[in-house]
Amino acid sequence: MKELLLSIVVPMYFEEEVARECYNRLKAVMNQQKYNYELIFVNDGSTDRTLEILTEIADRDKQVKIIDFARNFGHQVAVTAGVDYAKGDAIIIIDADLQDPPEVIPELVNKWLEGFDVVYAKRKKRKGETWFKLATAKYFYKFLDYMSDIYIPKDTGDFRLIDKKVADVFRQMSERNRFVRGMISWVGFRQTYVEYERDERFAGESKYPLRKMVKFATDGIIAFSTKPLRLVMSMGFISVLISIIVLLYAFIVRLFGQQVEPGWASIMVAITFFSGIQLLGLGIVGQYIGRIYEESKNRPIYVVKDTINVEVKDIRQME
Ligand code: UDP
Ligand code: MG
Repeated sequence: MKELLLSIVVPMYFEEEVARECYNRLKAVMNQQKYNYELIFVNDGSTDRTLEILTEIADRDKQVKIIDFARNFGHQVAVTAGVDYAKGDAIIIIDADLQDPPEVIPELVNKWLEGFDVVYAKRKKRKGETWFKLATAKYFYKFLDYMSDIYIPKDTGDFRLIDKKVADVFRQMSERNRFVRGMISWVGFRQTYVEYERDERFAGESKYPLRKMVKFATDGIIAFSTKPLRLVMSMGFISVLISIIVLLYAFIVRLFGQQVEPGWASIMVAITFFSGIQLLGLGIVGQYIGRIYEESKNRPIYVVKDTINVEVKDIRQME
């Protein structure tokens, strides 16, 4: 029987403080397993010593492969590239900062061997995160659940194992604004989870400032539902309804021979209210059009500057 190969995909963005420790911990866990493995580190355009440290590691360890991006393309794209290059029968996606403990990997693998195609790691607790992060994350997932048309598991990050056949479908998904966990959920097959406790970041700071979190959240919602558009439509209905009521009121008052109060306030309220709704609607529609525009340009999702320990024949041709 052919020996199984596991691919571990690790995106890295300014992770010079954790890169070596991450490698050591992964190595320790994988060496206890009886499977072949490859560690794929994606340097997402960090300009600190991350690449230098990784190169040093890869020079000594041929199981380590490096994909170096030409610039920062973002976490989700880095994961995408890692999956593209992975040759394993199963692929494990894990954060570099050791918030996802590598020690959970054997549990993921066991579930996979039981026959599951996607095994995601569900966190029981989050240690050492700010209340702001916890609160935003909580409401984000609630909102996402309400807005999305597909089921996206709560309390899970991208830490998960996917089978080769899931990865094959994932590679065919060519969208630019990538929301990996939603895309994997969309694929289907047999999915399950294992629980774990999320650790503190080993070192360094979160690479998700508010700006990136907002972009991530909008991707998650817009890529997986057209609910915002429907919402705008019902808002439109409601405003039309309100204006009809106001019209009727004015008509009836007139009918009984009285003058409608020449109200400055009501006019102002109406103007601001409705122009507000219109702008909001336009903004949301614009979001979708913007994405249509982006997709229609059909550019490559990422640009690779260099690879290490990756044979040329491994590289998938990006159409
Ligand atoms: N990351 C990346 N590109 C980015 C931002 C983050 O590759 O533009 C990587 C980062 O190095 C880490 C993972 O994505 O491995 C998760 O980022 P982080 O831990 O900062 O996010 P948080 O855990 O705070 O949500
Ligand atoms: Mg983290």
